[in-house]
Amino acid sequence: MATLILKRGAERRIRAGHPWIYRGEVADLKGSWSAGAAVDVTDSAGRFLGRGFYSPRATLVCRLLTRVDEPVDVALFQKRLAAAREYRRAAGLVSAAYRLCWSEADGLPGLVVDRYGPVSVVQCLTLGMARTAEWVRDALGPLFPDGEILRLDDPTAARIEGFDPVREARPAELIVEEGAGRFAVSLGAGHKTGLYLDQRENRVLVGSLARGRRMLDAFCYAGGFACHALLAGAASALLLDSSADALAQARRNLGLNGVEERATLREGNAFDGLRELQARGERFGLVILDPPPFTRHKSAVEAAARGYKEINLRALRLLEPGGLLATFSCSGGVSQELFQSIVAGGDCIEDAHVLRAGPVDWTGA
Ligand code: SAH
Repeated sequence: MATLILKRGAERRIRAGHPWIYRGEVADLKGSWSAGAAVDVTDSAGRFLGRGFYSPRATLVCRLLTRVDEPVDVALFQKRLAAAREYRRAAGLVSAAYRLCWSEADGLPGLVVDRYGPVSVVQCLTLGMARTAEWVRDALGPLFPDGEILRLDDPTAARIEGFDPVREARPAELIVEEGAGRFAVSLGAGHKTGLYLDQRENRVLVGSLARGRRMLDAFCYAGGFACHALLAGAASALLLDSSADALAQARRNLGLNGVEERATLREGNAFDGLRELQARGERFGLVILDPPPFTRHKSAVEAAARGYKEINLRALRLLEPGGLLATFSCSGGVSQELFQSIVAGGDCIEDAHVLRAGPVDWTGA
């Protein structure tokens, strides 16, 4: 096995618990290596730090899979996935659609496994994981003996890491429950692995705040927020998305939940949609902003901040007195503090007051 030797001082962050090694932190790579295979990682004095897959093309060249001297093999994957399931079972997080394995958080950097009913959807995000996808299959088999396994890699990650993404499709649609809602999932046809599972708790929470309110679901995708809100007694919902496919999925879900009569769907750019609603003097009791990432890089943070400011300002102006805004960011380069300062910072709030949008309640945000 090859050894990745870090520059002096680079081991500090790793010893403190961070599992990533950037190319600029590497002093040397000794021994015969192959792209995507496991390497040992040591500090500049040769002390062992751990083991991970080597990604020669990416800036992030290695993410530790283990910090002890143990083989990186199918048994390690089995141990990690069993622990991931046990943790979620104990925490009450197992449901019809949930994330079983979340990469670094479950000790398997570069691997996401989502469960949709009987199907495990496997997403490889690093070259090493793509090369060892068979181990993932072999490790999942005994955990879910009757289950299906579907591979749905992320094309962006595949491009960065240098592998061909495998994207399998499942012809038959699945119906999964989430809180009081039911959602149709066509695995392999939609975004992500099917649903945005990371917003599951927020969709349910927003539902609990929606009774009697007119709601706006901007960047709605499959309409999850709107379905929960309408099921919980929202007066009406307006759903905005630029993707016709997303809106078709949303329409399907509104129908499945029997709430389509109170919903209006509109295709188009949500930036324009928000502006038009504002120009018409529309008001809502509940606004959801759940846009795609505006940036993945630190270099574009300013432009992203402007985007967030624009939509949040417009959303605040659309609130009726006592209205609620639930606003989200999934831009890697935008920290929680920055996002908070954009949304709750002077400009947006002052404008909201000028417009007398009424008291803004942040509890739902
Ligand atoms: N709230 C959803 C997830 C939203 S994902 C949920 O909980 O499931 C972001 C959505 O924004 C995608 O459906 C994408 O099609 C849409 N989108 C991207 N850019 C957009 C734009 N400029 N205007 C409107 N929708 C956009």
